Amino acid sequence: MAKSLYRHEEQALSRWLLTITPFAAALFALAFALFLIQTAHKEDQAITSTLEQDLLWQKQALKNRLDNLNTQLSGLAEVIATEGFNSAEFTGRSLSLLQDSPEVMSLEYVDETGQERWRYPQYRPDFLPEQKHRNLVAARSAVLASNESHFSTLVLGKQSVPLLAQVVPVRLPYNGRHTLLAMINLNTLLQQQVPWWIAQRYQVTLNQNGQQIASKFDRNLDATQLSRGIGFDLPPNQFELRATVYQQKQSWQQHLLTLTVAALSILMLGSTWALRRHIKERQKVEGQLRQETAMREAMENSLVTGIRAMDKDGHLIYINRAFCEMVGYSAETLIGKSQIMPYWPPEDLDRCMAVYRAILSGRAEPSGYQMRFMRANGERFDVRLYAAKLIDGEGQHTGWISSIYDITELQRERDALQASHERFVTVLNGLDAAVSVSDSASCEMLLTNRQFDRAFNIPDWHGRYCALPYVARRKGAPIDTEWFDSYRGHWYQVKSRSSVWVDGSEVWLEIATDITALKNAQERERQQNEQLQQTTRLISMGEMASSLAHELNQPLAAIASYATGCRNVLSQAEPNISQLDQAIEKMAAQAKRAGKIISGIREFVQRRAPHRKPCEIADLVDTVRTLLAAEVAKQQVKLTISDVSTLPVIYADAVMLEQVMFNLMKNAIEAMHNTPQAERALDLLITPSDDILSVVIADRGPGIPPEQMEQLFKPFYTTKNTGMGMGLNICRSIIEHHQGRLWVEANPGGGSRFIFTLPLPQESYEP
Ligand code: ADP
Repeated sequence: MAKSLYRHEEQALSRWLLTITPFAAALFALAFALFLIQTAHKEDQAITSTLEQDLLWQKQALKNRLDNLNTQLSGLAEVIATEGFNSAEFTGRSLSLLQDSPEVMSLEYVDETGQERWRYPQYRPDFLPEQKHRNLVAARSAVLASNESHFSTLVLGKQSVPLLAQVVPVRLPYNGRHTLLAMINLNTLLQQQVPWWIAQRYQVTLNQNGQQIASKFDRNLDATQLSRGIGFDLPPNQFELRATVYQQKQSWQQHLLTLTVAALSILMLGSTWALRRHIKERQKVEGQLRQETAMREAMENSLVTGIRAMDKDGHLIYINRAFCEMVGYSAETLIGKSQIMPYWPPEDLDRCMAVYRAILSGRAEPSGYQMRFMRANGERFDVRLYAAKLIDGEGQHTGWISSIYDITELQRERDALQASHERFVTVLNGLDAAVSVSDSASCEMLLTNRQFDRAFNIPDWHGRYCALPYVARRKGAPIDTEWFDSYRGHWYQVKSRSSVWVDGSEVWLEIATDITALKNAQERERQQNEQLQQTTRLISMGEMASSLAHELNQPLAAIASYATGCRNVLSQAEPNISQLDQAIEKMAAQAKRAGKIISGIREFVQRRAPHRKPCEIADLVDTVRTLLAAEVAKQQVKLTISDVSTLPVIYADAVMLEQVMFNLMKNAIEAMHNTPQAERALDLLITPSDDILSVVIADRGPGIPPEQMEQLFKPFYTTKNTGMGMGLNICRSIIEHHQGRLWVEANPGGGSRFIFTLPLPQESYEP
């Protein structure tokens, strides 16, 4: 908190410095400029003040000079008026006056007519031509009128020499109106009367109507704007006396001072700029640092892993938020603690201390430690702890840092998983079926249950490979088949399919149920059935014995008859060989027929397993007709058989099929026992379709009530006194054994009809 406050203060100071620095520099420059302006202004004020005083002084000096000249001239005029002068005396006095007053160019004495009586010097200077001179002399009229001294108006001579005449009246006793004129060169007046200390500071000029008429200045110096003018009236002339200050040449000290101040200013501005840059750079670095710190704090706070640092002596020096939350103590409580930490459970103190010492001695296990810690509320929890050296920024080993993971939940999940696994294994082992899972690609056994291990004698299947070849593995639809373990003499119902294992790999899942007992029962039943069939056949044979005797009698009687005929032929003198041959051929045919009847009966009665092979239906029908011929004749039944010459070959056990047809036809004949003789008809209709051969045996007996139709096929169901009730049951077994169906329905023409179907072999079929 204090740290962040300090940081805020620092930031504010940096910002303030950054803002204030250019202002301070600008303020300094402004103040310095103001100081210079003010200094210059003050200097100007001082100069102006001095200038004004000097100007007043100068004006007064000029005034005094002209007044003095006036006094001298008035004195001379007085002397001339009272003492009477001659030319020589005038020259003498003029000479002395002109020597004192160089600005006076000449003195002239003019009488009342305006004629020049005397003058000194004798000749007018070149710059004063006659006309201009006259203009000057014209001023005497004003003097004469007022009898007072006067100045002439300004006359500019050649080369603009400014000339002025001061006219003094000469008051003669006889009221003469003479005048004394002093021609004054105003330029010379200024040259003479502006002292050196004024001349070196100012350019002094005498102006009239803004025009400069006389001046005194130094050509080497430049004038400034600093200038003052003052009225300097010499009636009737209105002049202005003006002084303009020369530009001051600065001394080397002043130069040095200015340079120093300028250098200091530049230095200060430079350092201000550098300071500003430094602050900016620092702010940038601080910004980056803040970001990094914020990032680190965010990372630390988002961690669920506890982090704990100790110095080399084992004192806690740092704890992150996750660890505080884990143990339930604040960082302030834990920092500085060593040895027995508050989160060590009392019962695990030895273990905690051992790990603590191992860390401090640098012998911590790289694989970490599983430990139990205690929260502030006393709750225990399991952790995994990893320790490493704490190295500071200069590469110095300063302590130890540990990361701590709360594995309580993990442990709980692991336990739950273990329990679930155990339940699964218990259920699996409780199954009667042998279950196995093997890798589809490598055939390595991944899982088997106890039944599997027991049945196939694989106590330790780990690392074994599935070598049970009971079903060919294949992708796609699940397999459900029977398999005989010839080694152990067991039958299994094997259900097998490909599946996905817990790790996503493809596996082969097999469930083998031992069906040996079932198989044995089926076999017994089959044998019993066969026994029954034989018994049935024997009974049928017994019943038919007389019919068969009659049937056999026919060929035997025929043979006997042919034999007698042969003997008769042979007893003749010349026996007819041709007759003999015919008789013997017929005898052979009858013998063959008798033999066929007998072999048919033998096969029929013989007890044997089904033996399928291609057979002609016409042959079957022929055999059955032969077997039943006596019965048909005896019962006077009209037997009709459909055309069997073009029927396809079927793949079947011929004797079994003959038995089926024989049974059904015999039942039909017996059913018509009470049918009027004229109506006794037995129809055998055999028709092939695409893939099925259907055989219909229809009679005109009493028919069968619908509710009894299924009963007939049950074993031992009979309505006959001497019947066994097994005939139809066996017939259905035989037909189903040939993948066909047998059922009964009412015959549309009266009576009932038994129908059975047999699959016809497809063209591609190869037996
Ligand atoms: P059994 O001939 O020894 O009685 P079957 O299994 O052959 O044994 O016949 C069972 C019973 O079905 C016969 O007793 C008879 O009542 C009846 N049955 C069989 N065929 C016919 C038929 N064509 N018409 C009427 N009833 C029949």
